[in-house]
Amino acid sequence: MSAPGRLSIASLSDTGRKRGHNEDSTAYDPALGLAVIADGMGGYKSGEVASAIAVASIVQALKAGLGQIQPAAVDPATGLSQASLLLRQAVLDANLHIYRTAQQEPQCQGMGTTAVVLLVCAGRMSIAHVGDSRLYRLRGQALEQLTSDHSLVQELIDRGFFTPEEAAENTPKNLVTRALGIEDGVQVDVQEGEVAEGDVFLLCTDGLTDMLTDEEILLTLRKYGANLEKAAAELVQLANERGGKDNVSVILVGASA
Ligand code: CA
Repeated sequence: MSAPGRLSIASLSDTGRKRGHNEDSTAYDPALGLAVIADGMGGYKSGEVASAIAVASIVQALKAGLGQIQPAAVDPATGLSQASLLLRQAVLDANLHIYRTAQQEPQCQGMGTTAVVLLVCAGRMSIAHVGDSRLYRLRGQALEQLTSDHSLVQELIDRGFFTPEEAAENTPKNLVTRALGIEDGVQVDVQEGEVAEGDVFLLCTDGLTDMLTDEEILLTLRKYGANLEKAAAELVQLANERGGKDNVSVILVGASA
C-alpha cells in the first residue's frame, strides 16, 4: 500500500434538535495530521468546558511536542511509536487539566468528557480514545469501527451477557465507564497502524451513532466519496432527521496521494 501524501478534512458539529446547547468540541489541524472530538458531560454547561479544555489541551500538546520527537521511532518498552506515546501523554495531560479545573471551580464539579484523537504522521496513524466517541475507518468498501466504547453496553457485550441487539434494548445507552476529568488518572486506549491511500477516517460522537446504523454511515460515505464536506453534512442531517436527540459531531479525514 502506498503512503498517503496529504490529508483532506471536513468537520461539522451541531446542537441537534433536542438539546439547548452543544457540549461537543472538535478541532483539527491538517499540517499536524491531527483530528480530535470530545463529548462533554456535567451540569451548568460544564460539559462544554470539559470538552473545550480536552480539545485545546490535546492540540496544544501535539503542536508543542511533534517537532521534538521521531514520530515513527518505536519505544522498546511499550512497543508503541513515539507519536503514539506523545498522543497518550497529551490525553493524560488533558485529563489532569480538566480534573484540576473541576476541583477549583464549584460550577465545574463532576464535569467530564470523552475524547477520540487521530494523529496521522509519516504514513502511519495513532489513535487514542477514552469514552464512547468513536473512530471508524472506511477502506475500500468496508467500514470498520477501530475503537471500542468504554460504556456499560459495550462492557456487558464483551463479558458475554448480551448480544449487541439485546444490549441495545436492555441497557441505558449513554453510561460511559471511562471519561476524562473524573479522577487524576485515566486509562487511555492507544492503537496504531498503517494508513493507505484512499482511507477515510470518521471521528464522531454518540449523537451520530445512536441515530444511524453502521450500514447507514457506510452508505453515506460511499455515496459522497471524496466529497468529505457533503458527506459530513449528510451524516449530521440524517441524525437530525431521525430525531437529533443529542449533539452530533463528525470529522472526516481523507488520506490521498
Ligand atoms: Ca453525546
